[in-house]
Amino acid sequence: MTSLWLRESAPFAPAATLPARSDVVVVGGGIAGVSVALHLARRGIGVTLLERSVLAAGASGRNDGQLLLGLGEHYHRIHGQFGAARARVLWQFLADNHAALRAALAAERVDCELEQRGGLRLAETTHEWRELQTAAQLLAAEGRPHELVAEADLPRWLPGARGFHGALFLPGEAIVQPVAMVRGLAAAAARAGARIVEQAPVQRIDGDAGAFAVQLADGRLTTGTMVVHCTSVLARDLDPSGGLQRMVFPFRGQVIATDPLPDAIAAQFPPYAMSSNFCYEYFRRHGRRFVLGGMRWSVPGEELGLIDDSLHNPEITANLREYAREHFPALDGIAFPHVWTGIMAGTPDGLPLVGALPGAPGAFVLGAFNGYGLSFAFLAGRCLAEMIVDGKSDHPAAAMFAPRRFDA
Ligand SMILES: Cc1cc2nc3c(=O)[nH]c(=O)nc-3n(C[C@H](O)[C@H](O)[C@H](O)COP(=O)(O)OP(=O)(O)OC[C@H]3O[C@@H](n4cnc5c(N)ncnc54)[C@H](O)[C@@H]3O)c2cc1C
Repeated sequence: MTSLWLRESAPFAPAATLPARSDVVVVGGGIAGVSVALHLARRGIGVTLLERSVLAAGASGRNDGQLLLGLGEHYHRIHGQFGAARARVLWQFLADNHAALRAALAAERVDCELEQRGGLRLAETTHEWRELQTAAQLLAAEGRPHELVAEADLPRWLPGARGFHGALFLPGEAIVQPVAMVRGLAAAAARAGARIVEQAPVQRIDGDAGAFAVQLADGRLTTGTMVVHCTSVLARDLDPSGGLQRMVFPFRGQVIATDPLPDAIAAQFPPYAMSSNFCYEYFRRHGRRFVLGGMRWSVPGEELGLIDDSLHNPEITANLREYAREHFPALDGIAFPHVWTGIMAGTPDGLPLVGALPGAPGAFVLGAFNGYGLSFAFLAGRCLAEMIVDGKSDHPAAAMFAPRRFDA
């Protein structure tokens, strides 16, 4: 069971062979690993990226491809959780991420079907509509681009929908084909000098700063001065300090998709990044397909703790189909033959881990994006490369993501 994006994307090329040693060994070939490898290579660092399968085989190739602003949360909730000053820094980080990512995709000529048409946060209830209005007031006060869309105006924005109570439009949001994006950035990293090695499952990492021995499951060995853990929640045991085990937990998301729809139906869904119910449900169009994810809250356990992306939950599939039937009349009776899942990594405060692993000299982590890695990881990779090369990152948000915040 794999995603449409993985099934339909060209494989990564060119393949590199495993070198005997590198300045930095990056483990994990999702958006996080690829981003830090690209930024390190651009700084002239000898970097090798090891991916156990193919690039973007994990969550980076199984998501909904939305570049979002604000952790998926409505903005006043971010203010509530982090305080006004940190909320502004966080929002700015995401806006900066999208600008840096767009610039890199253009400069490197990565064709990943980027649609910079904005995002629509839809209100599932009148309560959520009031929350969206509160969020809009804060965005207005801070001069951040947005537009409130009243229920009566929704048919102009999203002709195919019913049962929403209004929406908040954020022009800074976008959609991409995520596998094409990750592999395109990986090709850029390879051009900058990074060695990207697929089918390289890391089994064990010994040593510390200056002399890491990285053992592969097939017996191959390589060494590095530093290592960066970019395996999300999939290989926490590779960190002998136990820090990743303590800080990161897994949860599983699920997506269903149609085959290409008749033009008249597909045209009802403009290419926005779209979500409702506080971003728990998310959907978009890809070509003439409709792609819909979420509903993990609707089953016992909310898919927390699951790390198997070869299975899906039929109850979630049924609930997603019911959501589609309820909100998009034209999809009633349309088959959703594609279903897949992906494993995400969460942290207790909802923020990612970017920086040195406490108690593990020479080891770094980039990951745990709490379900919003496409929206964070490109700039976060640059920040981590700055920390490795310069000893610090000047981005004001970097301190919020330091793993040492959990080191009580
Ligand atoms: C259903 C779903 C919908 C989502 N929608 C969105 C969205 O619309 N927008 C958004 O911003 N985010 C979204 N996300 C979240 C986003 O996909 C993730 O946050 C992001 O992809 C995480 O990237 P990563 O590189 O940290 O991890 P991953 O992409 O999981 O990469 C980790 C890599 O490590 C490799 N690996 C594991 N163990 C080893 C080992 N021992 N040796 C070598 N390699 C190893 C894996 O094969 C994998 O390729 C969604 C996620 C899911 C599952």
